[in-house]
Amino acid sequence: MNNISNILQKEKLEKTDIITLLNLDKEQAKILFEKSSEIKQNNVGNKVYYRGLIELSNICKKDCFYCGIRKSNKNVSRYELTDKDVLDAAKYSYDNKFGSIVLQGGERTDKKFTDRITYLLEEIKKLSNGKLGVTLSLGEQTDQIYKQWKEAGAHRYLLRIEESNKDLYKKLHPNNNLHSFETRINVLKSIQNAGYQTGTGVMIGLPFQTVENLADDLLFFLNFNIDMVGMGPYIEHEDTPLYKYKNELWHLNDRFFMSLKMVAILRIIMPKINIAATTAMQSIDPIGREKAIKIGANVLMPNVTPGIVRKNYLLYENKPCIDENADDCLDCLKTRLKLVNAEFAENEWGDSKHFFIRTNKK
Ligand code: SAM
Ligand code: SF4
Repeated sequence: MNNISNILQKEKLEKTDIITLLNLDKEQAKILFEKSSEIKQNNVGNKVYYRGLIELSNICKKDCFYCGIRKSNKNVSRYELTDKDVLDAAKYSYDNKFGSIVLQGGERTDKKFTDRITYLLEEIKKLSNGKLGVTLSLGEQTDQIYKQWKEAGAHRYLLRIEESNKDLYKKLHPNNNLHSFETRINVLKSIQNAGYQTGTGVMIGLPFQTVENLADDLLFFLNFNIDMVGMGPYIEHEDTPLYKYKNELWHLNDRFFMSLKMVAILRIIMPKINIAATTAMQSIDPIGREKAIKIGANVLMPNVTPGIVRKNYLLYENKPCIDENADDCLDCLKTRLKLVNAEFAENEWGDSKHFFIRTNKK
């Protein structure tokens, strides 16, 4: 225990320290969680910022080996929300004082799609008098498109690196130009250069992934000077190529516990960034997101996608709330937040404090 306390008192954590912390057992991790919780309170407070998550479409041109909506999965019924569905979901988020939304979906780069996003962004700004913040998570696009979408009103962008180790990244994706690790890094840089609050993240407990890889992932976020992180357990999906490794994976509970430790350590090394409590954490533990909030996360992304299509956006097995409509989810969330003494930040964008420090604004 002394050793852990000594590590937690250091100004700067080395990779070996991070590995030690990631290997803590449940009893030992209590000190880590106390520390991360304290750092969270002192730096970003107890407010939780809501982003209404709108899953635009499950049509994707890519074939990531882990993802249930990958292009080659023929067992998926493909959908695209109508403009009305998207705008209604945005209005719902606005009316419920969420402050922001996230538009997420499969990757498409055709003009019809990119122009449609521009149109939707403009309409979302209109319906909320410019008050609803918008995060995009629509994969790899050109500099021109990032600029176009920023001008239309988006101000945050999420693009998970998925895994910062190049060799492992290659094992998780087909070997072609569409899935290049170098491109992923360059595109993340472009998003930062385009002036977005930039978010990334990884999956935790992937086949072949080691604790050392996870320590490197945390250092990657730090060295990249990232503003926001969304990371959570990898959960297998039977219609994907990685499913064949299901017997070699860490137990789901261990993936969840490792995700909590990742969130806690990240809060310690990057005190002022935004960290999301992800849906994948809830799919393993019904109050998984609230546990993440308690020890470091400060962003929640309640799903506001119309219930009727939600079952078709199955990235992995046991995704929660797929049979419910937006109201059901909101009620259960609000009740559970109280359990961890967190406060729902009404009508606030909840921008990343780190972003303003990085860009010297405010
Ligand atoms: N298509 C965009 C992209 O990939 O950047 C955004 C949507 S994609 C579905 C959002 C995230 O889902 C991915 O970044 C990935 O980390 C996560 N995801 C996909 N399959 C998953 C799985 N089996 N378990 C956990 N997370 C998964
Ligand atoms: Fe498409 Fe994103 Fe799934 Fe990859 S993770 S297959 S890009 S939706």
